[in-house]
Parts: sequence; structure tokens; C-alpha cells
Amino acid sequence: MKIREIHIYAQDLPVKDGPYVISSSTVWALDTTLVRIVAEDGSEGWGETCPVGPTYAESFAAGARAALIQMAPGLIGADLWPVALHRRMDGLLNGHNYAKAAIDIAAHDLIGKRLGVPVCDLLGGGAVQDVPTYYSMGVGDPDETARIAGERVREGFTRLQVKLGSRPVEVDIEALRKVWEVVGGTGVRLAADGNRAWNTRDVIRISRECPDIPFVFEQPCNSYDELTFVRPLVRHGIYMDESGTSLSTAISAAGSGLVDGFGMKVTRIGGLHPMRAFRDICAARNLPHTCDDAWGGDIIAAACVHVGATVRPDLNEGAWIAAPYIDGHYDRANGIRIDGGTIRLPDGPGLGVVPDRDLFGDPVASF
Ligand SMILES: [Mg+2]
Repeated sequence: MKIREIHIYAQDLPVKDGPYVISSSTVWALDTTLVRIVAEDGSEGWGETCPVGPTYAESFAAGARAALIQMAPGLIGADLWPVALHRRMDGLLNGHNYAKAAIDIAAHDLIGKRLGVPVCDLLGGGAVQDVPTYYSMGVGDPDETARIAGERVREGFTRLQVKLGSRPVEVDIEALRKVWEVVGGTGVRLAADGNRAWNTRDVIRISRECPDIPFVFEQPCNSYDELTFVRPLVRHGIYMDESGTSLSTAISAAGSGLVDGFGMKVTRIGGLHPMRAFRDICAARNLPHTCDDAWGGDIIAAACVHVGATVRPDLNEGAWIAAPYIDGHYDRANGIRIDGGTIRLPDGPGLGVVPDRDLFGDPVASF
């Protein structure tokens, strides 16, 4: 199975009831990049990558397209099987995992469709049909955050993430307290996501002032070194998100006991093939983790749901997708939807989603 054509598309995704606010970004619309790969026999697969603006991570939309355009001529004629494909991509461009992920996802979709099996089976199988998800509340007024938290628990969500940071730490502590007043005792799991914003002093303070609230910190401060510094000084568990930029970093963090779990993004680690290895490393160390992406439409959502379906259930912290914040679907019939805290694994081979190509207009580049 070899690649015959690669087509790259750009698409605007406005934020429904926007903006979406996290400590590093306030976003009104996202610029997503889609990839359509055509194999020698004419079969097709779709991939997607969508950074949350240019400041969330070391990635941005124009960078994704530039990296794809850099690699694409060298990928024509390349083998689609993941090990060979990743070696080929690594031989064409150093780094830029988030761009390589779009090719990786398209290859999995194409192989699945060609073989008549869903992507979750390509990733090892053992999949559940209803994949857990969690709700993420943007940085906002503490009372409003608490109100939304209560609503989501009543809808069936069993895990909530509170976005915090980039404001006085007293307001973040107030938000955590008010959320817990509403959801404490319901069995819901809580993550306090600083998205790299806090300094080590504030992380230590939050932990010491909230000993009674069993949240986990998610990427509380900016760097691997800062996580290492605060680790022995806080009472709460620590999950790594933005610092988990590669499989190598994840192995170090898991192996050294630096973290109690991960928020992992499929595109940040380079796609479904490295995500599969990451999942297995976490299982070997009994570390819970998510299978998320930063943003994007039905293609990236389907990729997250397929790998999320294969995670050992007791370690599964859910697949976060942007669907609640986006109007419409690429695939009207089979678009990925959240229902009461879970996401139904799509039927059909490959990703189980077939986008309406007319939505995207002409490709920005074709090879
Ligand atoms: Mg996070």
C-alpha cells in the first residue's frame, strides 16, 4: 500500500458561544488543517491537525501546512504502514510531530478502510463502544464555573477539568473551592489545569490551601524542570500535559515517578502510532491518561475516540474533543458527538467518518 497523492486543506472552525479561554490563549476561531491521502488503488484516508492558536504549544496552523508541504513530495510512493511511514517522515523532516500526526491519522484511516476494520482494531483492539470523555471549563468567573460544573455532572460527566491561571492565584483557589462545593460527594474526578501558567510558588500555595479537595494538577507550571521542583512539595497528584512533547519525554516522566498521569494529545506525540506505544507504556506503569487533542473537527475527534476506546478502562481519563464548541460536522451522519459523558465509537471501517469534501473548497496544496 503506497501513497499516490496528498492533498492539504485549510478550514476555519469558529468557536460556538466563544471565546474559549485558557491561560495562554483566548480563541474565537481555530484554523485547522486536513490531509487527504490517496493510495495507488484510489482508496482514500483523512487526517487532521489543529493547534489552539500560536501560543498554546510550539505549533501553529501555518507551521503545520509548511511542514506538510515540506514532506509531501518525499512521501509520494511511500509505504503506508506506520513503522515505515514514520521512518520516512523522520527522514524528510526533523521534529514537527503535530504535522506528521495528520499523515499518520490519514494512513490509519486508509488502511482501516482498505482492510474493512476500524482504526481501534488496528491499534490493538479490545475496544469499548462508549468511550469516556470529560468536560473542560475555560478560565472564568468562579460562580459561573461552579454552575457549569454542576450542570455537567447532572448530564453524566464523571470527570471535570477546570482551566485556571493567568490571574490572581486567590481567584483560582476560589474557583476550585466553589466547584468542589457543588460537585464534592458526587464521585466526579477533578483536574486543575494551569496550562503552564503558574509559577512554582503559586502551585505550592494552591496545594497547601486546598488539602481537602482531591484534584490532580494538570501541567501546573511551564517546564519539566519546574514540575521536578514542585513534585515533592505538593500534596496533590501531578499530570503532565504540554511538557509531554515526545515518547522519550513520556518514558522519562513515567519511569522516574515524576508524574501520576498524563493529559496526552494525539497530534503532539506524532499521531496514532506513537500514541499506541504511549498507551502501552502507561499501562505498564499503571498511569492514568487522556487521549485528547487540542482542537479540530470530526477527523481528529474520531482519531482520539478510536485510541481512547483501546485504553485499559481503569486508566482511562477520557478523550477530550472540541465538538461541543463547534457548529456542524464534516460528516453529517457519522460526525463525532458527546452524549452524557461518553462518545459512541463510530461504526464503519477506518475512522468511521467520511468528510464532505465540498466543505473544504480547493486544496491549499496537492502533490
Ligand atoms: Mg491540559
